[in-house]
Amino acid sequence: MSDLILFWHRRDLRISDNIGLTAARQRSRRVVGVFCLDPNILRRDDVAPARVTYMLGSLQELQRSYVKVGSQLLVLQADPRQAIVTLATALTAKAVFWNWDVEPYARERDRAVLEVLHQAGISAQTSWDQLMHPPDEIRTGAGDPYTVYSPFWRNWYSKLKAEPALTLQDAIGLTDEEQTTARLAGVTELPTAKELGFVWSHSLLLEPGETAARERLEEFCHRAIFEYREQRNFPAEVGTSHLSAALKFGVIGVRTVWAATVAALEQSRSEETEANIQTWRQELAWREFYQHVMYFFPSLAEGAYRKPFQSFPWENNADRFQAWCEGKTGYPIVDAAMRQMNESAWMHNRCRMIVASFLTKDLIIDPRMGEKYFMQRLYDGDLSANNGGWQWSASSGMDPKPLRIFNPASQSKKFDAEAEYIRHWLPELRGVDTPDLVMGTISPLERERCGYPAPIVDHNQQQRLFKQHYQEQKA
Ligand SMILES: Cc1cc2nc3c(=O)[nH]c(=O)nc-3n(C[C@H](O)[C@H](O)[C@H](O)COP(=O)(O)OP(=O)(O)OC[C@H]3O[C@@H](n4cnc5c(N)ncnc54)[C@H](O)[C@@H]3O)c2cc1C
Repeated sequence: MSDLILFWHRRDLRISDNIGLTAARQRSRRVVGVFCLDPNILRRDDVAPARVTYMLGSLQELQRSYVKVGSQLLVLQADPRQAIVTLATALTAKAVFWNWDVEPYARERDRAVLEVLHQAGISAQTSWDQLMHPPDEIRTGAGDPYTVYSPFWRNWYSKLKAEPALTLQDAIGLTDEEQTTARLAGVTELPTAKELGFVWSHSLLLEPGETAARERLEEFCHRAIFEYREQRNFPAEVGTSHLSAALKFGVIGVRTVWAATVAALEQSRSEETEANIQTWRQELAWREFYQHVMYFFPSLAEGAYRKPFQSFPWENNADRFQAWCEGKTGYPIVDAAMRQMNESAWMHNRCRMIVASFLTKDLIIDPRMGEKYFMQRLYDGDLSANNGGWQWSASSGMDPKPLRIFNPASQSKKFDAEAEYIRHWLPELRGVDTPDLVMGTISPLERERCGYPAPIVDHNQQQRLFKQHYQEQKA
């Protein structure tokens, strides 16, 4: 019988266009998948029930995909630093393959797994898969990591892009005897989210699994991508791909996504549509930029990159934070966005920027509190992208512009001029006149009639206060 190879899935929940899995299949037909439900992650206090639901649904489909090609996906529920080597040893596997990750916890865990496998005499093979270009491939002329997006993008874009990797086919799984051994070594049934202690009873914007992600990509690249540059800014429109959770969990491969943009360019009939496609590609590059910087500067996960924000006098008023979380600040666009996230586990990008600016610049609350709340709610919550977005919005990160302050009223005026988004997520305000919703000039009487709160702070006043703090920190 050929050698048994275990392929350890983490954030690559698919059998197509998976570099590490393809390498494993090239080594042997006997490729068996493993996924480890890691208590070190699941027991953290920033895990969103919707995210676990999406992940488990995607794992269910991955299990079916393995069966279709002749093998299995095994599930463990234990610390991978021990569980992977225990399983590999019990099954006398020849090697364990996996794809690298950029997050600080994952890197430390992987180093530990490499070490125990080495001690057990089992080989390990690793690849880069979740990025078009691994961190070491994109460096400045001096060989340093980039800390500014624009030159990163130019370098990243100029590099040759790989084609999608082969889909796993014609594999061989465990024998009945080996399956018994695997169970004795800890392999278990895939639990439900409820069994893991997570409840999410609403639907998700994108169904879990590879099939739904592929269909969404195809649909987006046939239509919305051609108008993306403008439409992506309007939260009441479906102008973006909604692929973020699929990309976070690697339910779709990045090379497949890139190939879809190449196909869209081939169909493009004008410079205008080409520019739209290019703008979407730039968003894919933002995703990579934030992963690269997390890889090179892991301390970003702990706090501010820029000096003025490392000991900033955040006020962290608990009542204001609570009002922000619940969508009860009295600022319609902010509240609509927070309710969108609380109820759907997703928030439009424009609104993520608005509410993050509001929390940090208007409420003068530490961005890490908002960042954590986002992780507790978003089904696409991802350390690098979320941290990057928060640091950008707080002006504490790698952004050449020293200070950005969003005015909620001018943001609504520009991007939700008819207040469609506001009315959708704040049904109690549906009868209020559009200009009042957009500008936030709802009278105290009307607020009372609708059961909608008065503004918890004054934007202009808070803005001045924030700038004053900033000048003091800079000095
Ligand atoms: C404060 C804040 C927090 C954020 N938190 C997250 C998060 O936890 N997870 C997450 O995936 N994105 C996050 N983003 C980025 C962005 O808001 C989402 O990726 C986007 O809204 C997802 O919708 P979409 O898939 O329709 O995006 P599209 O507009 O269709 O973009 C395509 C893909 O590009 C990537 N992308 C787009 N914009 C960004 C960006 N600014 N930074 C990094 N990647 C990007 C995503 O993978 C996205 O799916 C955050 C942004 C901000 C300002």
